[in-house]
Amino acid sequence: MEKICVAVRVRPPVSQEVSNGLYWKVEDNRISLHKPLGTPISGVSYAFDHVFDQNCTNAKVYELLTKDIIRAAVEGFNGTAFAYGQTSSGKTFTMNGRENDPGIIHLAVKDIFQNIQMAIDREFLIRVSYMEIYNEEINDLLAPENQKLQVHESLERGIFVAGLREEIVNNTEQVIKLIELGEVNRHFGQTNMNARSSRSHTIFRMVIESKGKDTTSSDYSNSDAVRVSFLNLVDLAGSERIAKTGAGGVRLKEGKHINKSLMVLGNVINKLSDGSKQRGHIPYRDSKLTRILQPALGGNAKTSIICTVAPEEIHIEETKGTLQFASRAK
Ligand code: ADP
Ligand code: MG
Repeated sequence: MEKICVAVRVRPPVSQEVSNGLYWKVEDNRISLHKPLGTPISGVSYAFDHVFDQNCTNAKVYELLTKDIIRAAVEGFNGTAFAYGQTSSGKTFTMNGRENDPGIIHLAVKDIFQNIQMAIDREFLIRVSYMEIYNEEINDLLAPENQKLQVHESLERGIFVAGLREEIVNNTEQVIKLIELGEVNRHFGQTNMNARSSRSHTIFRMVIESKGKDTTSSDYSNSDAVRVSFLNLVDLAGSERIAKTGAGGVRLKEGKHINKSLMVLGNVINKLSDGSKQRGHIPYRDSKLTRILQPALGGNAKTSIICTVAPEEIHIEETKGTLQFASRAK
């Protein structure tokens, strides 16, 4: 089992908060809470594989957290990269980026096509899908008519989302267009764009299939002849507690689904990262998210998690919660 790579990223403050209170300090791969005048608060200090401060670029995050996963995916290994954190902490900024600072997904797609071009002895077939899990229902972001899709398992296909659209792609531009289409579909009909997107998980998936170009032999009995790998890039729903989101009814229902699926994800990852052999049953089936990702979590799949946090003092409790989640994943 590969170790799960866990990182924390602190975004820049969004407002000029006037505060003489507590603040987070980033030093090397450690983040700790400090009192004014720089006294560390004992017990609130966490170390991870990487801690990125507010000046870090998406390119750097990609380099340290995703590049290896992409390389392995092109070689036939499954991989998953998550962004976890409260709403407005920078998950989407990290995954999707913006004009002058492309996010993990764009950088990954570009890198995949570059890697493929270098693998001159193999030919590739790349398929893309894009889905959302909202209230434990799976919706297709590339084909909005495909709603409430079911997860199935077969000998031939393993675990799969039945009816999910998969588009064959040949270059980065095609993929970017599909992502843009997905974003339009995701926002369609929403009264409050940000509201829905912060309450759903999105999974951007690439299936990378390759076979050797050896034209002299048609020997497919060679187990290495065809390789298929799944790469998932996941922007998780906001991890904030329901109480803060307020209200009952729809919000409450959403909150419960989110809390449960993030808890299950935490449990699954915690068990996977537990090196001991007695980790027992892994509860993949307890949420749609972990069920869908099951083939690309554990085993020889490569996994990374970037936990995004807000630096402001008002977010300290949520930030602590995120750092605790991140600690359990190590
Ligand atoms: P989330 O997806 O976690 O809800 P967003 O990615 O939408 O959060 O980020 C919230 C706001 O903060 C956005 O305006 C975004 O552009 C900004 N932001 C987040 N992370 C960074 C960063 N590392 N550098 C600059 N701006 C950021
Ligand atoms: Mg977001």
